[in-house]
Amino acid sequence: MNQSQIDSLRNAPVEPFHHLIDGQSVPASDGETTTVVSPIDGAPLTTYARGTQADTEAAIAAARRAFDDGRWSDIAPTGRKKVLLKWADLIEAKALELAVLGVRENGTEIGMALKAEPLSAVATIRYYAEAIDKLNGEITPTDPAFLGLVHREPVGVVGAIVPWNFPLMIGAWKFAPALAAGCTMVLKPAETASLTLVRVAQLALEAGMPAGVFNVVTGEGPVVGAAIAASMDVDVLVFTGSGATGRRLLEAAARSNLKRVYLELGGKSPNIVFADAPNLDDAAKVSAMGIFRNSGQVCIAGSRILVERSVHAAFVEKLAAQAAAIKVGDPLDSATQAGAVNSERQLRQNLGFVAEAREAGRKVIGGDRILQETGGLYMSPAIVADARPEDRVFREEVFGPVVTVTPFDTEAEAIALANDTSYGLAAAVWTSNLSRAHRMVRKIRAGIVHVNTYGGSDLTVPLGGVKQSGNGHDKSLHAFDKYLDLKTAWVKL
Ligand code: ADP
Repeated sequence: MNQSQIDSLRNAPVEPFHHLIDGQSVPASDGETTTVVSPIDGAPLTTYARGTQADTEAAIAAARRAFDDGRWSDIAPTGRKKVLLKWADLIEAKALELAVLGVRENGTEIGMALKAEPLSAVATIRYYAEAIDKLNGEITPTDPAFLGLVHREPVGVVGAIVPWNFPLMIGAWKFAPALAAGCTMVLKPAETASLTLVRVAQLALEAGMPAGVFNVVTGEGPVVGAAIAASMDVDVLVFTGSGATGRRLLEAAARSNLKRVYLELGGKSPNIVFADAPNLDDAAKVSAMGIFRNSGQVCIAGSRILVERSVHAAFVEKLAAQAAAIKVGDPLDSATQAGAVNSERQLRQNLGFVAEAREAGRKVIGGDRILQETGGLYMSPAIVADARPEDRVFREEVFGPVVTVTPFDTEAEAIALANDTSYGLAAAVWTSNLSRAHRMVRKIRAGIVHVNTYGGSDLTVPLGGVKQSGNGHDKSLHAFDKYLDLKTAWVKL
């Protein structure tokens, strides 16, 4: 990636986007569109179709037909693999173009966006494509007079509702295993990150995926998302987003066809630094990136740092130095480390948390709205250096570049503080004591516990939450469990 390639794409005109339904690019049934405003400079970028209930139902009907007639699920796994691998190649060839388009829409810094978006989707598609012809069924050890077979069958039509922070990465965590498994899909992107998902779905057609297998309907959550959740024809619903929406999806499933609902609902992840951390400078540096990259708009962000009291002051000083050194600004400048905040609403919310902490008398470093003259949405990293468990900023997910630091005295207190949250997505422990590291891994209620690092796990390990962070897993071979049903054949010989 070089800057001149990025610059040649940064002002390219973007044509209006439509839905992709049954292999066709179609506008909304009532012709309505939504204007995409870039968080880089507040300027309009393009429009996309504002989906209606009828659009969504048409997409679901297309996915249903495509599943039921076996045009995809009845292809041998090696055949689906071939299409998926070709698709991955097509995305890879357009990676920079897709990354820049995505950044213009959602504001993520390009260095991260390129890796975490198109290239991550490419790797994810390849991973599940390569896996799908290696999953065996079972013959069970029954009485010789019988034969017990366990088949693994695609679940049917999958609805996916995805967020705006990493649309392609999180989207691919869902569509790659679902499509590899032989399911068909209707995907709804977030309102502020729709374009790249439509493009990627068009590339699937080009790679030879049959029409109707992968449909994308753009538009608003309470219209398009709600229609997917309420559908009698969607068999499984997968979601990443807020807890409030997650609850609505469960209610809609209960009221309709009891579709299985898998939720990934964010977190308030504790990042625990003991005085015996192998290297406090390294802990401060990685912890800063663990919260401030993508302006804190990362579901596993380490937003609650807990530090052993004897190193609290030193750690805060190092963290503040790291935060001050983070280059915030134009996300299409490859030197930028934290780009634009996704929306005005999100920026106001972030600043509200910071103001409240200041008013409560907490020591706050940074956390200001900056670069206003650009017309874009930018904020400097914020550290609440002496947060207390009763503070709202300690308890609620900010989804912005705001981190709390809270001192503790003992391992038991660290565990109690870490688990004092309704969430359970991610955590980290920094220590040189091997036994303590493993004790902490066991005691912290979270889907992933990092040791002496933060973030950066690869596709081989599952990601999913406990408590109110959700259920089910993305990534790893376990992701197939959501998209493949077990079916028993019990045969009398
Ligand atoms: P955030 O606050 O991070 O934007 P949301 O849960 O609102 O989280 O958004 C995540 C996804 O859920 C987006 O694609 C959004 O459009 C969708 N969504 C929002 N409200 C609803 C709803 N009532 N029903 C279905 N989907 C929704």
